[in-house]
Amino acid sequence: MIIERFQLGLIATNAYLLIDEDTKDAVVIDLGGDFSKVKEKIDAYGANLKYILNTHGHFDHILGENDAQNIVDVPVYIHESDKIMVENLPKQLERFGFVNNTLPPNNVKTFTEKDVFKIGNKEINVIHTPGHTPGSVCFLVEKNLFSGDTLFYTSVGRTDFEGGSFKQLSDSIKNKLFLLDDDITVYPGHDSKTTIGYEKKHNCYFGSDNY
Ligand SMILES: [Zn+2]
Ligand SMILES: [Zn+2]
Repeated sequence: MIIERFQLGLIATNAYLLIDEDTKDAVVIDLGGDFSKVKEKIDAYGANLKYILNTHGHFDHILGENDAQNIVDVPVYIHESDKIMVENLPKQLERFGFVNNTLPPNNVKTFTEKDVFKIGNKEINVIHTPGHTPGSVCFLVEKNLFSGDTLFYTSVGRTDFEGGSFKQLSDSIKNKLFLLDDDITVYPGHDSKTTIGYEKKHNCYFGSDNY
């Protein structure tokens, strides 16, 4: 599988483009800004965008999706507990002090942890990891985990926004993500990639080095 990262939008949020080489199916995870570079890459590979997945509903992860839907007619998926945040995009922008009239995505569908997405013949599994937001999820595709704002390189997502809970975040990381294999690569919503094994040891909040 091809994985390309783009840093987009108002606060450099990572968007990930996944392409299955066999079928040329493409999926985007978190489109927080201008779609044009992502579209160029999709076209360069001769791939077809099937849908957009969201790790959670914060504005910086969804801001490019309405524009993208004007170019490629695809649905947007988000966990059922964060759907309200998508609808509240204008309010979110206002609250964070951004003057921006971008519309929320349309054709928004919801999922739960039980749902399994597909890219070509590969499965994209959902791990519900509430804490940063109620509907925060990580997507696991083979040995790749797309962790949104739940788990970062040596850090974790903030829990002081509306709907956040450090207790839930702690449970999500310790009892779900840290049960995964050490050699899984973690692709977070901001900054650099890491691995589950590295974070189990070195994470500033939950790494074993800090106990
Ligand atoms: Zn966030
Ligand atoms: Zn973010």
